Amino acid sequence: MSEILSIDNLTKKYGYLTAVSNLSFTINKGNVYGILGPNGSGKSTTLGIVLNVVNRTSGEFKWFDGTVSTHEALKKVGAIIERPNFYPYMSAYDNLKLVCKIKGVSYEKIDEKLEIVGLIERKNSPFRTFSLGMKQRLAIASALLNDPEILILDEPTNGLDPQGIHQIRTLIKQIASEGTTILLASHLLDEVEKVCSHVVVLRKGEKLYSGRVDEMVSSFGFFELRTEKTTELVKLLQADAAFNKVTELDGLVTAFLEQPMDASDFNKMMYEKGIVLSHLVKRKPSLEEQFLQLTDSTNPTKN
Ligand code: ADP
Ligand code: MG
Repeated sequence: MSEILSIDNLTKKYGYLTAVSNLSFTINKGNVYGILGPNGSGKSTTLGIVLNVVNRTSGEFKWFDGTVSTHEALKKVGAIIERPNFYPYMSAYDNLKLVCKIKGVSYEKIDEKLEIVGLIERKNSPFRTFSLGMKQRLAIASALLNDPEILILDEPTNGLDPQGIHQIRTLIKQIASEGTTILLASHLLDEVEKVCSHVVVLRKGEKLYSGRVDEMVSSFGFFELRTEKTTELVKLLQADAAFNKVTELDGLVTAFLEQPMDASDFNKMMYEKGIVLSHLVKRKPSLEEQFLQLTDSTNPTKN
């Protein structure tokens, strides 16, 4: 798999404040990456460093195979890290013409990109008549003009209404499905869950997790159980190494798995031990529950 960006032990200090701390991760071609973390966790600083607008304090980053300068490499990167800013009285088309001139791109690209972001019908409308969502989509069209290898977006749906948010997320997925690698920063867990295949979770500039979104916490799930023999059941499960935690509240027993186990196998096992379950549900924690577990400083399993 070819590498687009690798970050190695990157640190950024603003005086006494460490905004990014020893951060390392790699971005491979064809995936959608999220940098997820609360406000102030160092997402924008990280993007600023790799885009050469913020100076790092220490550490390294390498674009593509590392043989070209960052300046050259950035010609193959499309990025939107600030609110879209175009000339208000000029049309969408004319604004993009200016960008083409600056980037040295043929004007032929303009219609193609306006088509992708769904603004072709509005190409002659002045920028100032656009909704916030349309402005953001025009910014994406602008970032795509040079057919970048990777598109970088910082909080792409901030401030948009639900419909605008939906349009942007659909657009990101569509661009990714056509082979452009995406890196987006977001403080919204559900955004990362809906859009990204991979995630880097930050808290106070430190990496808590990086990997596939669907494997964020290696969790085998848990059983919710009811039986007439509650006390017996709890005792039995507490003694069983397959479970790492067992709780009971108003007769509802929750047992967290330490290893994979089928609900039907479990049911059979309990039956053989003389416990008849009147209620048996297997659940997995939601990504939100996993995220909270991960960012909980009392959780000993995080690294
Ligand atoms: P995020 O994008 O995750 O919200 P930022 O990267 O913007 O986080 O900020 C990380 C930390 O660095 C915050 O504590 C922020 O206040 C601080 N910070 C960001 N930019 C500057 C700056 N130019 N000068 C001083 N501190 C800054
Ligand atoms: Mg930010």
